[in-house]
Amino acid sequence: MAPRHGAVEPPAGDKPRNYDQMAGSRRLLRRLIEVAAIPLEPQERLDRVVRMIATDMVAEVCSVYAQRAGDLLELFATEGLAPGAVHRVRMRVGEGLVGSIAATGQVVNTADAQSHPNFRYFPETGEEIYHSFLGVPLLRSGRVTGVLTVQNRAPRHYSDDEVEALEVIGTVLAEMFASGGLADPKVYGYIAGLRRESYRLEGTRLVEGVAIGRAWLHEPQIVINRLIAENVGTELNRLDLAVARFRASMDELVERPDLGPGEHRDVFEALRMFAHDPGWVRRIRETVETGLSAEAAVRRVQEETRLKLGHVADPYIRERLQDLDDLANRLLRQLTGQALHHDPSDLPAETILIARNLSAADLIEYDRSRIKGIVLEEGSRTAHVTIVARALDIPMLGRVDGAMAAADPGDLLAIDGDHGHLFLRPTEDVEQAFLSSIMIRQERRRILETQRSLPSVTLDGVPIGLSLNAAFLIDLAHLDESGADGIGLFRTELTFMNRSRYPDLPAQTDYYRSIMEKAGDLPILFRTLDVGSDKQLPYWRTPAEENPAMGWRAIRMMLDRPIVLREQLRALLRAANGRPLCVMFPMVTEVAEFEAARALVDRELDRLDRDGLPRPERLEVGVMMEVPALFWQLPAILRRVDFVSLGSNDLFQFLYACDRGNPQLSDRYDVLSPGLLSFIHDLVERCRAAGVRLSVCGEMASRPLEAMALIGLGVRHLSVTAADLAPVKAMLRSVAIGPLHDYLMTLLELSDHSLRGRLQAYALDHQIVLPPGVYRP
Ligand code: PEP
Ligand code: MG
Repeated sequence: MAPRHGAVEPPAGDKPRNYDQMAGSRRLLRRLIEVAAIPLEPQERLDRVVRMIATDMVAEVCSVYAQRAGDLLELFATEGLAPGAVHRVRMRVGEGLVGSIAATGQVVNTADAQSHPNFRYFPETGEEIYHSFLGVPLLRSGRVTGVLTVQNRAPRHYSDDEVEALEVIGTVLAEMFASGGLADPKVYGYIAGLRRESYRLEGTRLVEGVAIGRAWLHEPQIVINRLIAENVGTELNRLDLAVARFRASMDELVERPDLGPGEHRDVFEALRMFAHDPGWVRRIRETVETGLSAEAAVRRVQEETRLKLGHVADPYIRERLQDLDDLANRLLRQLTGQALHHDPSDLPAETILIARNLSAADLIEYDRSRIKGIVLEEGSRTAHVTIVARALDIPMLGRVDGAMAAADPGDLLAIDGDHGHLFLRPTEDVEQAFLSSIMIRQERRRILETQRSLPSVTLDGVPIGLSLNAAFLIDLAHLDESGADGIGLFRTELTFMNRSRYPDLPAQTDYYRSIMEKAGDLPILFRTLDVGSDKQLPYWRTPAEENPAMGWRAIRMMLDRPIVLREQLRALLRAANGRPLCVMFPMVTEVAEFEAARALVDRELDRLDRDGLPRPERLEVGVMMEVPALFWQLPAILRRVDFVSLGSNDLFQFLYACDRGNPQLSDRYDVLSPGLLSFIHDLVERCRAAGVRLSVCGEMASRPLEAMALIGLGVRHLSVTAADLAPVKAMLRSVAIGPLHDYLMTLLELSDHSLRGRLQAYALDHQIVLPPGVYRP
C-alpha cells in the first residue's frame, strides 16, 4: 500500500486514535528539536523543555528525574513544583511513584496519587495539591535512565494518547540526555543515561586470567542522529521502503543456496518470520505517527522489548525477545545505512571483545594479538569458542547479563577471569590493581617457564607425559622450547573452519607438512575432522538437527562421506613422507565404526604403495573415548587400537546428559565428581591391563586441580593448552602420587555432588603448587 502524506489514518481494525493529540505531540517534538539546536547551557535547556511540555500537555507540573549512581533518582528540572527542590530531592529506585517507575519501567497513570500504594510524600516539592499523576520511564539501552512526569490538580486519568505522547517525548529526552544536551556530562557524568559511572557486573569464569583493555562490540552500536520526523508521511515512506528492503534481504538470506539446513537456517527463518510480523511493523508505524523519525521509532519499540528482556526469566522467551532485538538492529542499519560489521583494521591494540555469543570461527577471524579479553552474555565452559580462547590464552567471562548494553565502544574494561568479574570503566585504583596483577602474573609465568626444562616427574618419581593441544600453525611456534613431549591433540577441523572453501588435497598436504616440519622430531597426534555440533564449516550444508551435539558429527559424518576422510588421510600420509604418523578418530561409538575408519587407512596405505610413495616409518591409529557406549566394548576396541585418548569434554556431556554448550547448565555438574572420576579410574585400569596407552586431552587435563585428580587416578599422559603447561607441570612436580591415589580411592564412593573442596583442601595441606585462583570452587 502506498504511504499517505499529510493526515494519517489508522489501519483498518486498529483502535481509533486521537489525531488532534498526535498532531499536538508532533508539534511538541518539533519544538523540542528547535530547543535542542539553540546554544544554551544544558540546565537552561532542560528547564525550557519541561516548561514546554507542561504548556503543551496542559499540565500544572512537568518534572524530569534522572538516575544517578547508587540507584538514586534526582529531580533535575521542574515546572510547577518548588524550584528549590531541583537537584535536592532524591529518592531510591523503588521508592515513591517515581522510584517505582524506575524500578519496573512501567507507566504510572493515576487520578489520585496520594492514595496510590507506592506514593511517598516529599514535603520540599509542595506536590500534595496535585491529584493526577502520569509518569513514564526514560529508556536507553534496555535500562531506565530517568523518569518524566506530569501532574494536575484536578483528579483525572490521562488518556492513552496522552500517555503515548509523553512516552514518545521520553524517548527523545533519553537520547538528549545521552548526548549531553540536557545535563553537563562533566558534572553529571554518572547519570546512568550517560553510562559513564564505574561499576561491576558478574559472570561465569570461562578462561582464567586478568585483562584490561578497550571495549569493542562484536556488532557495532547504531547511532541515531535524526530523532524527529520533519514530515510524518515522508518518514512512513522511508520506513515502508526500509521494511520492504529489509524483508527482501531476510528472504534472500534464508534462500541463499549455500546456507544449507542447520541451526543457522533456523535462526534466520525465525528472524524472517518476525520480520513479516504485521504487529511489530504496525507498532513502529504508530510510533512514527506520533512524530518520531523512522529510526527513532524503531529504537523506541526496541527499547520496550529490551526492557521486557530484563524482566523475563524463561530462557526460551528471552531468546525470542533477543531475536526481536537483533531484528530491530537490522532494520536500523537499513534506515541509517550503518554497517553490520566493523572494519577489523580499526580494532584497538588492547581490545576487550564483547558479544552476545561468538562462534569459534568468529573468534579466529579477529587479529588475536589485539584481543586481550572476551566477555559474552552467553557462553559456556566447554563450547569450542571457549576452547579456542583458552588455547590463545585470552581471559574470558560468560553469562555477563547486560554487558553489551552497559559498555560503550572504547570504554575501559577490566576482566577478572579468576573470579568472574567485569569492571566497567574502572576507577584509577582498580585499573592500577589490574595492571600490577598482570605484571605479577607475567612474572610468575616467567618463573614457571624457567622450569620448562625440568623433568615432568612427580615428587615420588613417577614420570608424567605432558603434550600440547594445538589447532593452528602458530601453536607450534614454541613447541620445541615449551618442554612438551609433542602435540597430544591436533584439532584439524579448526583450520577447515577458518577458510572460505574446503581445502583440497594439495592444500591439506602442504598444511600438514608444514605442521610436521615445525614439530621436528616431536610426535603429533592428528585427530581427523571433528565437524558438526558447534563446529560447522561455512561452506558445508548439514541438515537441521534437534540435538546437534548428539547428532551427525565427527566420525559419523566422515564415514558417510568417506571421500572426505580418505582425502584427509591421504594428505596426512603424503605429508608424513615416511616419517612416523599418529592418527585418531573422534566420537567413535562402536567398534565397527573404528574398523571402518581403520579400513580406510589401510586403503590409503595401499594407495601410497601404488603411487610409489613411502609408508610412515611407524603408524599409530587410536580412538577417542568420548561416547560412553565405547567403554562397554573395551575388550574389543583395546585389541584394535594403538592408543586411547580421553576427550573429557564430550564424555562428560554424554555421561551426565548435560549439553556442554548450554550456558544454563555450565555450572550444574562438576567434572570432579565421584561419577566421572570412577569412570576414569576404571578406564585407566582397563587400559593398563591391556597395555594400551591412555592420555587425556579434554579441558580437564589443562586445569591443574583436575589434572592432579587425573594423575591420582593413574593417568600418565596429559595433553594441555600451551598456557597451562607450566602450571600443570608445577603441580605435578609438587605432588606425591602414592598418598594422593590412596586418598582418592577413599572418595570415589562418596555421595558428594563434587569432590572439588576436598581436593583443594588436600592440595593445600600437602603444599601442592596450584595457581592462586584454583583454590576457589
Ligand atoms: C573432548 O571432547 O574432550 C575433546 C578433546 O574434543 P573437542 O573438545 O574438540 O570436542
Ligand atoms: Mg570432543
